[in-house]
Amino acid sequence: MSNTAAPLEVLIDELKRLPGLGDKSATRLAYQLMNLSSEQTDRLVQAIRGVHTKLNRCRQCQNYTEGDLCPICSDPKRDHSVICVVETARDVQAIERTREYRGLYHVLYGLISPVKGIGPENLTIRELVNRMSDTTVKEVIMGLPPSVEGDATSIYLARTLKPLGVRTTRLASGVPVGSKLEQADRQTIFRALEGRHEL
Ligand SMILES: [Zn+2]
Repeated sequence: MSNTAAPLEVLIDELKRLPGLGDKSATRLAYQLMNLSSEQTDRLVQAIRGVHTKLNRCRQCQNYTEGDLCPICSDPKRDHSVICVVETARDVQAIERTREYRGLYHVLYGLISPVKGIGPENLTIRELVNRMSDTTVKEVIMGLPPSVEGDATSIYLARTLKPLGVRTTRLASGVPVGSKLEQADRQTIFRALEGRHEL
């Protein structure tokens, strides 16, 4: 039998389900949460619930937003002729932090991976192709990680989009192989954007 009180054990078990949280860190976090005041606990629970109930996907770029169109897609000062395709919504944040990119985005929510059984139909590729009917779009940049799955997805997208008359480019190498865009620093992302080349 465990020495931990049942409610605490339930909390630890739930936290352990989160990616990247092992036994130790889940336990540490559970004790920290237990020490929160009642008001803090309510705010935290409401914040977690809020991202589930108040957010939906932007009609255009598929990024999380509160309205129909996200603030980036609805900003007339952004360059609407360029779309940077990224794997996750976190990548949008990473690129936005650099303030070096003025175009729009498209969030795929994954990469093509035959091993994991993820095909083009499981990603937001159809939504991306539909965006090409807007003739303002001239270039699609593959901002995908330099991995086997990232490369496979970039090549698939280039083959699909090129016949539609749009230029397809990819970020210059600089982001180390296998690493995530969100972990790259500002200079690296800037150089990768500047040195992008045709696909
Ligand atoms: Zn959007």
